[in-house]
Amino acid sequence: MFQVHLLKNEKVDEIYKLEHLFYIIVTVEKYVNKNIPQCFKCQGWHHGASLCKMNPKCVICAGTHEYRDCPNKNKENFVTKCANCGGNHTASYRGCPRFPKIKPKTNSIQPGKSFARAVTPKQNPTILSQNTQSITEPPKTWSSLITGNANSQTLAATPNVSDFSDLMSLIGEVRKIFNGIKDVKALTAKMQSTDNIVDKLMFLSEALRGNPEVTV
Ligand SMILES: [Zn+2]
Ligand SMILES: [Zn+2]
Ligand SMILES: [Zn+2]
Repeated sequence: MFQVHLLKNEKVDEIYKLEHLFYIIVTVEKYVNKNIPQCFKCQGWHHGASLCKMNPKCVICAGTHEYRDCPNKNKENFVTKCANCGGNHTASYRGCPRFPKIKPKTNSIQPGKSFARAVTPKQNPTILSQNTQSITEPPKTWSSLITGNANSQTLAATPNVSDFSDLMSLIGEVRKIFNGIKDVKALTAKMQSTDNIVDKLMFLSEALRGNPEVTV
């Protein structure tokens, strides 16, 4: 699993169309941050107290004061009240029914924008050229995928380490391929000039072999 940071531009969403990275089938998913910030002033989510323009609500009693001013905090038999749902828990309780819903995923993701998950390595080059699904735009991020986070710390947390190390070897090979390309920029520009997947592969092949006559 790789995490890729992209600069925001009008083509940034193109990466979600990426289905193949050379001989590897990949899926690209938006990164979901598990750590939803909660404001300790108003108990709302997705912002911090320093930017909060809401009235204060107490984290334990839902009163219109901040926790440090709470008259209830040292009371015996005090029953907590959630400022978000009115339930019998503190407003910071993550089991609150109003707590923002997040999709359950693995826990090995690190902060950032998106990540590509390599699903199934395919070692047979012909599969790619026979595939009828076309990649409409070659992402500018291929090289960042390859040269980026190959030694990511997510390795240790990946459930199937055996599959993953196979994949890492494969990525190592792909990286060697990239090292053989003298001018990645020129190649990228060429590949972007066509929507035809076979043409794209031709350009790649040319760049790799330095021989325009060689076919894929
Ligand atoms: Zn707030
Ligand atoms: Zn209070
Ligand atoms: Zn609640």
